[in-house]
Amino acid sequence: MRIAVAGFMHESNTLSPMRADKQAFLAQGWDEGQALVERWARAHHEVGGFLEGLADDDVQIAPLLMAWATPCGPVEEAVFEEVMQKLLTGLEREQPDGLLLALHGAMVATHEEDGDGLVVERLRKALGPDFPIVVTLDLHGNISPRLVENATAAIAYRSCPHIDQRERGIQAAGMIRRIVRGDVRPTMALAKPPMIVNIMVHDTSREPLLSIMNEARRLEDDPDILAVSVLPGFAYADVPQMGPTVIVVTDGDKARATQEADRLGQIIWDRREEMNRTLPDATEAVRQALVAKAPAVLVDTGDNVGGGSAGDGTTILRELLNQGATDSVVCLYAPDEVALCAVVGVGQMVDLVVGGKVDSLHGEPISVTGKVRLLHDGDYEEPLARHGGRRFHSMGMTALVELNDRIFLVLTTQRHPPFSLGQLTCLGIQPERMRVLVVKAAIAYRAAYLPIAGSIIEVDTPGMTTVNPHRMAYRRIRRPLYPLEEGGGQNSCR
Ligand SMILES: [Zn+2]
Repeated sequence: MRIAVAGFMHESNTLSPMRADKQAFLAQGWDEGQALVERWARAHHEVGGFLEGLADDDVQIAPLLMAWATPCGPVEEAVFEEVMQKLLTGLEREQPDGLLLALHGAMVATHEEDGDGLVVERLRKALGPDFPIVVTLDLHGNISPRLVENATAAIAYRSCPHIDQRERGIQAAGMIRRIVRGDVRPTMALAKPPMIVNIMVHDTSREPLLSIMNEARRLEDDPDILAVSVLPGFAYADVPQMGPTVIVVTDGDKARATQEADRLGQIIWDRREEMNRTLPDATEAVRQALVAKAPAVLVDTGDNVGGGSAGDGTTILRELLNQGATDSVVCLYAPDEVALCAVVGVGQMVDLVVGGKVDSLHGEPISVTGKVRLLHDGDYEEPLARHGGRRFHSMGMTALVELNDRIFLVLTTQRHPPFSLGQLTCLGIQPERMRVLVVKAAIAYRAAYLPIAGSIIEVDTPGMTTVNPHRMAYRRIRRPLYPLEEGGGQNSCR
C-alpha cells in the first residue's frame, strides 16, 4: 500500500488587506518530499499523525508538499495554483493508492471564495471517482457542500484549543488504510445550521460545545458511524459557507449520515442563544485586571492574530499606560521598530512609535521611550501539545523593549500568535511573575496560558476579529443568519 501525504493550510480573514503570498508560506512552512517528514514528523500536528499512523512495513509513504501560512487575508491565486500543480504532478509521479490531505477548511483564495472546496474538487476530477481522499480539517473550517461531495471522508479536530491534532491525523491514517483494503466504504453528509457561533464560546471544554462534542463521541460508538465532526466555523470570512458545520461519515449508509448530521445541526440551532457573548471594553477590562489575581491575562479579541488580524493593535496598551499598570507584557507586530532597535543597540534608550500601522481598525500608533533589553532571532521550540501543533516557531527578528514601570514590549518582525509561552520565555520573561499579560487571541492561547494564569479577562476590543458580529460589514454570507437575523429554518446551505 502506498499513501501520499500532503497539506495546504490557511485560515483566511477576508477583512484583512494582507494577502497570503508565496513569501507568507515560505516564512512559515513550505516543505516538499523528505523535508515535510523532517519538519512535521515530531509535531503535535495532523501531518505528524499521518506519518505515525502510516508507519508500518506494509505501507509506503509518499510525502508531497506541506504548505502552511499564518492566518491573514486571502491566498493569492499564483501560490494557490502552484500548490495545486505540485500536488497533481506529485500524485502523477508517485501513483499512490490514496491521499491524506491536511486542509484548514477556512481558506479563501483571491480568485475563489471556497478555496478548500476547490482543492478537493480539482483533485477528485484528476484522480477519478473512486480514488480515496481523506481530508483533515481545523475546527474553524467553514465547510462547503462541495468539499464534502468530493472528499472520500473528512475528519475535523475535536478540541479548541486544538490539542488533538496529532490524534486526528492518526485517525485519518487508520481510516485510509481501511478504505484501501476495502474494509469500509465511507459516505458523508453535512448540516449547516443558519447561524454564527461566537468565537468566545469555542472552548470545547465548556458549555455549550462540551455536551455537543460529547454527543458526537457517543455517536461514534456505533461501528457503522466512522467519524462525526462538529465545526463551529470562522466568522471572519465573508463567504456563503461561513458558519457551523456538522459532518457525519458512515460506512455506506447515506441516509443515516444525513439523519445524524441534521439531528446534531438541530441541537446546535436550538442552543443558539447560548452561543452569543458580550464582553467589557478595554477601559473596564484593564481596571479589572489591575486588581485581579496575577498574572491577569487580558484577551485582545479584536486583534486575534490567529484569526488573521493585524497583530499591532494598541487599544489595551494605551489603557495600561493610561491607568498606570506595571509589570506587564504586550506583544506587537512591529518590523520597522525592530530594525530601529537593532540599529540603536542593546542597552540603549530608544524612541519609538509602535502599533496601529497595518490598518486603522485597531487603535492609533503610540509614542513610547524605553530601553532595548534584548535582540533575538525569534526562533523557539515548543515541545508540548499546544494549539496549532507546531514545534518550531519563528517570530522573525524580535526586540524586547522595557518602558517605565516594567512594561515590556515584545516587538516582532512577523505577526505571531500567542500559542506558546516560548514566545516570552525565549526572551527571558517569566510570565508567571508578571502583573498583566496581553494575548492577541480568542481561545487558542488557553492551552499555553491556563497553567499559569491567575485570572483571565476577555476584552471587547475593536478590530477585524471583533467578537460582535453586528459590527461586521458582511456582504457575501448567506442570509438569514442568526444572530444577525432570527433565521429561518434549517440547513439553508445544503
Ligand atoms: Zn482553528
